[in-house]
Amino acid sequence: MIENGLLADSHGRVMRDLRVSVTDRCNFRCLYCLPETEAALNFYRGRWANFSNPAPITRNWTSAEKILSFEEIERLVRLAAQLGIDKIRLTGGEPLLRQELEILVGKIARIPGIKDLAMTTNGFLFEKKAKALLDAGLQRVSFSLDSLQRETFQKITGRDGLNEVLRGIELAQQMGFAPVKVNAVIIRGVNDQEIESLAEFGRIHDLCFRFIEFMPLDSGRAWQKDLVVPAREILQKLEARFSLRRIESDNKSETATRWRFADGRGEIGIIAPVSEPFCGHCNRIRLMADGKIRTCLFSAAEHDFRTLLRDGSSDDVLQSELKSVVWQKEDRHHIGEPEFVPPPRTMSCIGG
Ligand code: SAM
Ligand code: SF4
Repeated sequence: MIENGLLADSHGRVMRDLRVSVTDRCNFRCLYCLPETEAALNFYRGRWANFSNPAPITRNWTSAEKILSFEEIERLVRLAAQLGIDKIRLTGGEPLLRQELEILVGKIARIPGIKDLAMTTNGFLFEKKAKALLDAGLQRVSFSLDSLQRETFQKITGRDGLNEVLRGIELAQQMGFAPVKVNAVIIRGVNDQEIESLAEFGRIHDLCFRFIEFMPLDSGRAWQKDLVVPAREILQKLEARFSLRRIESDNKSETATRWRFADGRGEIGIIAPVSEPFCGHCNRIRLMADGKIRTCLFSAAEHDFRTLLRDGSSDDVLQSELKSVVWQKEDRHHIGEPEFVPPPRTMSCIGG
């Protein structure tokens, strides 16, 4: 029996984790997210001969007046926290493009009930903002780093920014953000030959290094199953090179399966939404920069909270709408199944 005051769905799951996208804009053009560079198009072009996916998504950046203000985000987070949300992750787009993000961090850090406040970033601007974010109360940072080779990094992200990201990761560790996680999306034929060296980088630097399967959420609709390197293949490569010990976790809603290196430094995680979905224990919902709530990355429907935030609706109305939306959360995604329909929005809009 689930308590009334919580955000429960009809499948017995209780939401604890709210991902807040603060902008849909980005200073990178990742091949798996916003594949709009010549390098990304060249990569996919060879595979487009038998390309039968829907047309690429035409995306427009959301205009400023449609983006939630910090006060609006704060109010929604406060109301969600009263209903059991205790974990907030700021994301985007690239969250560090949002001006004065530290003000929002400070507001959320002060909300009673929020135990964990993290951010996912591509890291390019991290050095400039790190101190202000730490001082404001940010606790953890996850970086995206898909390659240690300057050229491959540029091919994947569209930006010659490897050094900035590496410096950002080092700084985050020095400043005491802990644990520092680093995410790599692995794509066959792009960076799968770097799986071992990325893991070694994680081991040497004592990071939580996480490998993520490529999901059909890119703006080019270029995802194809044969580009996904499944978790078991990633693990085989890692086990051939390292001595790993599985970390058992009591936290069923964790997205990653985790391993420790036998020599004790660093940690490996593999996030396998495509080959080994973990929907059964999902406790996440997502607030997008324009005030829409999604109950799944792959939801067909979005729920407009911006209107409620701006039309004078009471806290009670907002909370009962939140409960009703969460109750309808999908049981699982359908990637790889014949009836799968990719969502109308891309990962850069939804927030990872
Ligand atoms: N811009 C920030 C960044 O890249 O870290 C935050 C937003 S990004 C959408 C959040 C996460 O989603 C990143 O770790 C990124 O690698 C991941 N991501 C983006 N597109 C993806 C895709 N098609 N499949 C799997 N992961 C994806
Ligand atoms: Fe930008 Fe992050 Fe998407 Fe890359 S993954 S394009 S950094 S939002």
